[in-house]
Amino acid sequence: MRSGAKKKCINPSCGIEYSIDNDIYRCSCGFLLDVVYDEIPNKNLIETFYQRRNYMGNIFNESGVWRYRELLNFVGIDTEDIHECSKFLVSLDGSEGRSSRPYQMSKVANYVDIQSENFYLQPEGYNPSGSFKDNGMAAAVTHAKLLSVKKIVCASTGNTSASAAMYASNEDLECDVYIPRGEIAPGKLGQAFQFGAQVIEVDGNFDDALSLSLINATKEGGYTVNSLNPFRIEGQKTIVFRIMEHLNWNPPDWIVYPGGALGNISSCGKALMELYKWGWIKRIPRVLVVNANGADTFYRLVNGLFDNSKLSWNGGKIDTQLIERFYRYQDINKISPKTLATAIQIGKPANIAKALRTIDFTNGIVESVDDIDMLDGMAVVGLNGFDCEMASGSVPAGIKKLRKKEIIKKDEVVVGVLTGRQKDPSLAINYHLNKSNMFAKPPRDHLT
Ligand SMILES: *Cc1c(COP(=O)(O)O)cnc(C)c1O
Ligand SMILES: [Zn+2]
Repeated sequence: MRSGAKKKCINPSCGIEYSIDNDIYRCSCGFLLDVVYDEIPNKNLIETFYQRRNYMGNIFNESGVWRYRELLNFVGIDTEDIHECSKFLVSLDGSEGRSSRPYQMSKVANYVDIQSENFYLQPEGYNPSGSFKDNGMAAAVTHAKLLSVKKIVCASTGNTSASAAMYASNEDLECDVYIPRGEIAPGKLGQAFQFGAQVIEVDGNFDDALSLSLINATKEGGYTVNSLNPFRIEGQKTIVFRIMEHLNWNPPDWIVYPGGALGNISSCGKALMELYKWGWIKRIPRVLVVNANGADTFYRLVNGLFDNSKLSWNGGKIDTQLIERFYRYQDINKISPKTLATAIQIGKPANIAKALRTIDFTNGIVESVDDIDMLDGMAVVGLNGFDCEMASGSVPAGIKKLRKKEIIKKDEVVVGVLTGRQKDPSLAINYHLNKSNMFAKPPRDHLT
């Protein structure tokens, strides 16, 4: 075993490197860290990845994360050695990322006005704990085990805690989850309890829960598995790898994600930067990030809607004072993020710098949509036979909005990521009880 991996500050004018045998996630200069590798992977791996889809009983080929293990081999194992894979790689029996790939969904395509054959959605809700978080968690818990930690810790709007608790139970680790009291979907909270996690309820919002969990992880000894953790980001790159593989490594014109803590779009950006640098893709898709109107920090800052100043990556010279002014303005005016899409009810996105880098690299766009648009989006996805949660409904909603503005063209190839499965059925039921909703089909009494 020989790992050529390091952690490296994302700030180009700093670039300090750290060994991976610790759980430091932030550079002394304040920026977050990337996992970097000293070898460029061989392009022949594209064929290997394809062949592994016939997994013949090997769970590390079955897993949609570890199928690409050469592209996130921070452990430094011999990737063809099953014994080494079993010893080090954390997997829920090959199930993470297994059933997610782009699917064509004609009714959603019609609704958002994109040509049906060019339109795909990738249901990450079909992961074992029901959200895309499992892609990253498999990698983060693999790193936690490398460090021989006893306990993992996270703050969560729900799905992170479900995923962390699931892997912790399967790996015999303790798991503390900090959640904003009353602000997470019952299906997600139920999972945390069922998987044996210690739930810690915080009076405050997600941002408060995150700061508390980070402090307590240091004080009480625990390994943080929020998306600040660069190994989470490595695992989530595989969402992009599965998109590309399905499209024969011909990049789409657009990739679309909801934006919460912005970990997912950070991993999208890192995956695209790597694939482009290695020459595996020749073109860079544009990334669209969709905020909820009630939790639109990224949208407002990037589009210059606060203090008339546009926040951008700017070669790493980010206007951090603008971010701080906005957070102070939120705090002083007691503005707490508010949307029924609790998965993205976040006011202080922890990965904002990496997300700016993604927007810069991909010529990306940040949009914002109303709650009702997300509910309509969620409903129309259902009519294609896939269930997703409200936050994922932001994806069709955002695409529709950019189509109306003619920023996305009707014949462009668009792939949206449906981040999670429905875990608050009351949202779907209430939507359909109200017949004024666009896709509502209210129940009726029997005829005789
Ligand atoms: C966590 C989550 C998000 C937000 O992802 P970030 O990486 O925090 O931006 C969106 N949708 C669902 C269903 C989630 O669980
Ligand atoms: Zn630094």
